[in-house]
Amino acid sequence: MKLDVHDAKILEIMQKDARTSLKALAEASKLTPPTVSARIKSLEEMGIIRGYRVDIPPDALGQRVMFFMLKAKPSDLEEAGEALAKIPLVREVHLASGGRIIAVAVVRSPSDQERLTNDIAGIPTILEYDNYSVVKSKKSDSWAIVAEGTEVSLNCFYCGKPIQGTPYKIRLGGRDHYLCCPVCEKAYREKYAKLEAGAKKAPFKGR
Ligand SMILES: [Zn+2]
Repeated sequence: MKLDVHDAKILEIMQKDARTSLKALAEASKLTPPTVSARIKSLEEMGIIRGYRVDIPPDALGQRVMFFMLKAKPSDLEEAGEALAKIPLVREVHLASGGRIIAVAVVRSPSDQERLTNDIAGIPTILEYDNYSVVKSKKSDSWAIVAEGTEVSLNCFYCGKPIQGTPYKIRLGGRDHYLCCPVCEKAYREKYAKLEAGAKKAPFKGR
């Protein structure tokens, strides 16, 4: 699956400002507002639009960003990453090559910093680490590069693995769901039916 010229335009604009009006998006992408709306919904369902958030620079709140370069045994990488991700002051965790983990944290005070380094030092699967305080940020753009023809990598809604080739697309509850193989499709339908049955008993909260 590839992004077409319309998807690319919508994503490019929304990546800069997610609050751009449907009307403006429609004009830029040469579609009608209802089509733009449907496309956005489908991009959300495919996980290409992960969410919408407010961008608050930490320094505007007097907070400091810290980068951590950590090392774990390759067999412990997953576990170490999970332990790091549980620390509230840690905002990003990336498992990298060579048994490394790159983490970004934010601290409000020297006592935050002390607590953070103690928490990290207390993770048994972490062998060593270096940390750096950000002195000044020069750029902090959204990561993905959007362009027409970009190949979309979809993860199976059931097993979570990247889907190779054409996805099995099924429509349930008025939404598209993508699966990697007939086995996952069957299991997913069963899981979905169970969830639906449960949801009928309890009132659905959220959107
Ligand atoms: Zn699967």
